[in-house]
Amino acid sequence: MSSAITPETAPSSQNFIRAAVEADQRAGKWGGRVETRFPPEPNGYLHYGHAKSICLNFGLAQAYGGVCHLRFDDTNPTKEEQEYVDAIVESVRWLGFDWGEHQYFASDYFPRMAAFAEYLISAGKAYVDSLSAEQMREYRGTLTEPGRNSPYRDRTVAENLELFNRMKAGEFPDGTHILRARIDMASPNINMRDPAIYRIRHASHHRTGDTWCVYPMYTFAHPIEDAIEHITHSLCTLEFEDQRPFYEWLLEQLAEGGFFERPLPQQIEFARLNLTYVVLSKRKLIDLVEGGHVDGWDDPRMPTLIGARRRGFTPEGFRNFAERVGISKSNSWIDMSVLEECMREHLNDTAERRVAVLDPVKLIVTNYPEGQSEECNAPNHPLKPELGTRTMPFGRELWIEREDFMEVPVKGFRRLFPGNRVRLRYGFVVECTGCEKDADGNVTAVLCEYFPDSKSGTPGADNYKVKGNLHWVSVAHGVEAEVRLYDRLFAHPHPGQRREGDAEGLERDYLDDLNPDSKRLIRARLEPSLAHVAPESRFQFERHGYFVADRFEHREGSPVFNRTVTLKDSWKNPGS
Ligand code: ATP
Ligand code: MG
Repeated sequence: MSSAITPETAPSSQNFIRAAVEADQRAGKWGGRVETRFPPEPNGYLHYGHAKSICLNFGLAQAYGGVCHLRFDDTNPTKEEQEYVDAIVESVRWLGFDWGEHQYFASDYFPRMAAFAEYLISAGKAYVDSLSAEQMREYRGTLTEPGRNSPYRDRTVAENLELFNRMKAGEFPDGTHILRARIDMASPNINMRDPAIYRIRHASHHRTGDTWCVYPMYTFAHPIEDAIEHITHSLCTLEFEDQRPFYEWLLEQLAEGGFFERPLPQQIEFARLNLTYVVLSKRKLIDLVEGGHVDGWDDPRMPTLIGARRRGFTPEGFRNFAERVGISKSNSWIDMSVLEECMREHLNDTAERRVAVLDPVKLIVTNYPEGQSEECNAPNHPLKPELGTRTMPFGRELWIEREDFMEVPVKGFRRLFPGNRVRLRYGFVVECTGCEKDADGNVTAVLCEYFPDSKSGTPGADNYKVKGNLHWVSVAHGVEAEVRLYDRLFAHPHPGQRREGDAEGLERDYLDDLNPDSKRLIRARLEPSLAHVAPESRFQFERHGYFVADRFEHREGSPVFNRTVTLKDSWKNPGS
């Protein structure tokens, strides 16, 4: 489904990260090697923001003939699960990227990380602290005040080694001791005030089981993972900028100890993706699922990659999006319409056209013989004749959209009303003769007569000039389907954020900004060729938008389609 990327097709636009890589290559740093990594923590499903990081890391490696690793940053035992590992693998592959044999788990490095911790202790660069968490906070100081040394900071190397070994042996409960780097409690950068590097956690890990009851902190583990894997450029989001001095300090110590060769991996920060009309924080995504606001992690409205796939978004669309939004050093918001437009562009190019009537009412062609039918030819793509044509059966009874008929037309209405002529697309020109109604005055059928010499593609067709062009499905041949009309999950661009005019002190909850109309289920009528398509087939339903056969619930004989995106952006003028 997704096409592979080669160096030729990899993104080629210039950005500050590429400039840095090219400068390193010119200088011969790392012998010109480019090795990046995408380091998800397997504690949740990947979201649209991760797609940006994936495209950046894999794209960069491809552009410079390097490799990108898929590394599971599984250093926190309590929240991580194999289920997430599998889903992450599937999503990164789906986006079109390949890491070859370079799949790694941070947990495989636990023995080396513990050895490095012991080395730091021996070198006088780490110590076991026994302050309570609350005391540690007090000693840490603030942005304006320096911290104070812990009374345990001057423990001897022997004492620290013994305590760390006892921590590892499981002699102490969680939170009683912690291993800290010994740097500088007066540093203006709080991250350098003796950061914690190992903590006690009596918890089973999804891969190492009960082997360990001490686990490395993320800030200690991540640089080591990068160095072990010979990563050259370690790309991360801006929040980690203040952590860079520790990243460099730690790797310097370990290089001095002879564990790593220079040049060491270089951390480079970029702005994370912020997208309007969704939330991209794992905690909020969990709340949406657990609170029952969506139908699970792969609900097509969820900004997860498994949700995107089910919605019909495409890997190519995400890659174009990543390219378009680019890489920057300052945080900003990208409008959801940019992502939707990237999907539309790719779908417009690749999706075959089909006909679906979403709100059906019967149209009876009163002068067409009963029991008869004939085929009409329809192109699969208006701009791509190579995609061929299909036939659509025409008959006496057709489904049309309810909104395509008005008994008393409003000004400018060009579709069906008594006396008006329209073309039934790919078929005949018809003239409306009236309608049938039930006792309550609801239209139950629209009546018309057709012109036998007006069939599209025949010489007589050109003699008819009409302004309306309607889509239709034969009642006798069409298939009934469940169609899910998905829209944006949130009705407000910045869910939960205060807006102009809010009373002072008003706190908003992002859940209050959920779009009540983000999902609508309808029964639609589809042209018969749609009865036999595979799950995940994507189409443009003419006049309606792009749709995908549901990945899991679409079945032969019982079609289920999800709306991926409408043909045009309807959010530009809210209320219109
Ligand atoms: P957590 O809050 O649990 O740390 P996370 O979103 O950072 O969540 P990770 O699994 O640690 O999740 O992320 C993997 C990689 O994806 C990291 O390198 C991270 O910087 C990157 N990433 C996460 N969110 C975004 C985003 N919105 N835009 C760009 N990159 C992102
Ligand atoms: Mg993270």
